[in-house]
Amino acid sequence: MSLAHDVAPPAGLQAPRHDWTREEVRALFALPFPELMFRAATTHRQNFDSCEVQISTLLSIKTGGCPEDCGYCPQSAKYDTGVKAEKLMSVEAVLVEARAAKAGGASRFCMGAAWRSPKDRDLDSVCAMVEGVKALGLETCVTLGMLEAEQARRLKDSGLDYYNHNLDTSPEFYSAIITTRTYQDRLDTLDHVRDAGIHVCCGGIVGMGEGLEDRVGMIATLAGLPVHPESVPINMLVQVEGTPLADAAKLDPLDFVRTIAVARICMPASVVRLSAGREDMSEETQALCFLAGANSIFYGPKLLTTPNPARDRDMLLLDKLGMRPME
Ligand code: SF4
Repeated sequence: MSLAHDVAPPAGLQAPRHDWTREEVRALFALPFPELMFRAATTHRQNFDSCEVQISTLLSIKTGGCPEDCGYCPQSAKYDTGVKAEKLMSVEAVLVEARAAKAGGASRFCMGAAWRSPKDRDLDSVCAMVEGVKALGLETCVTLGMLEAEQARRLKDSGLDYYNHNLDTSPEFYSAIITTRTYQDRLDTLDHVRDAGIHVCCGGIVGMGEGLEDRVGMIATLAGLPVHPESVPINMLVQVEGTPLADAAKLDPLDFVRTIAVARICMPASVVRLSAGREDMSEETQALCFLAGANSIFYGPKLLTTPNPARDRDMLLLDKLGMRPME
C-alpha cells in the first residue's frame, strides 16, 4: 500500500526521539507531498504557535580570508570571489549594529567570524561583544569555527545563548565539500558547546549537488545527536561565482520544502530556520516552508556576504500570510 503507512503519523504531543533510523527518515522524504506537509504542520502546531516566526539578524564581525576550504563559501581565502578580507570589528561598532537590529524587530543577534577557530585574544573581544549585546536585551549567537572545551566555557561565562556550527551535509558527502576539517571535528565542537551549557544551532545546506540519500543522512545525523539542536538552520545553497559550487545543479524548490518538513518532524521541539537562499526563493516557496514547519528567518539585507531579502519585503510577506514575529 501507500508509503504513507510506513511511518507512524503523529499522535499527540510526543517527546523528541533520538533514535530515528535512516529508513524512517527516508520513508518521510518519500511520503506523498500532501501527507508529508500535513504531518509536518501537525507536529509544528503541537510544539509552537504556527503563526509565529523567530527573527534573527546576522552580522559578519570578521569577514573573509578564512583558511578553510568549504566549497560553498565566498569567505574562503582559497577562492577568488571578490570578498575582501577584513579585520575583526570593534566592540562599539558591533553594538551600533545590534541596537539597529533590535530597533528593526530582531530578538536574536548572531555574529559570524570567518575563522578556522578563534585565537584567545580574539575571543576576549567576542566575549565583550556578547556581554554588550546581551545588555541590550537581545539573545546572542556566535559562529567562530571550531572550539575547544575551555573556549566554549569562556563564551558561556560571557552570557552566550547559542553557538552555530553546522554539520553541512551527510557524513558520506562531506568530504566532497570540505577537506580542511573533518565531520568528527564538527561533532567534537558541538559536544564542547553543549557540555558548556550553550544552546546549539546546527543544520546544513542543500542544493550542493548532494543526493536525496545525503539529505536523509544529514537529518538523521542531526536528529540522532544526544540533544536536538535548539535551532536548526536549513540553507539553500547560494551559488557564488568563484567557489567550486558556483555551477552546482539547482535543487527543485519542492525538495527544499520536503527537507524542511522532514527536519520539523524529526526535531519537533527545535526552531527550524529558513536560512540562506531566501533571496532567490519565491514567496510561494517561502510560504510552503512556513507551512512545513519553518519558524525562524534571518532578517536584514545581507547574510554575512550574500544578499538577503530587504526587511520591508519580509514584513510584507509575514503580513500577507497573517504571521508575526515571535516575541
Ligand atoms: S564556511 Fe566558515 S569555515 Fe568554511 S570557509 Fe567559510 S568562513 Fe571559513
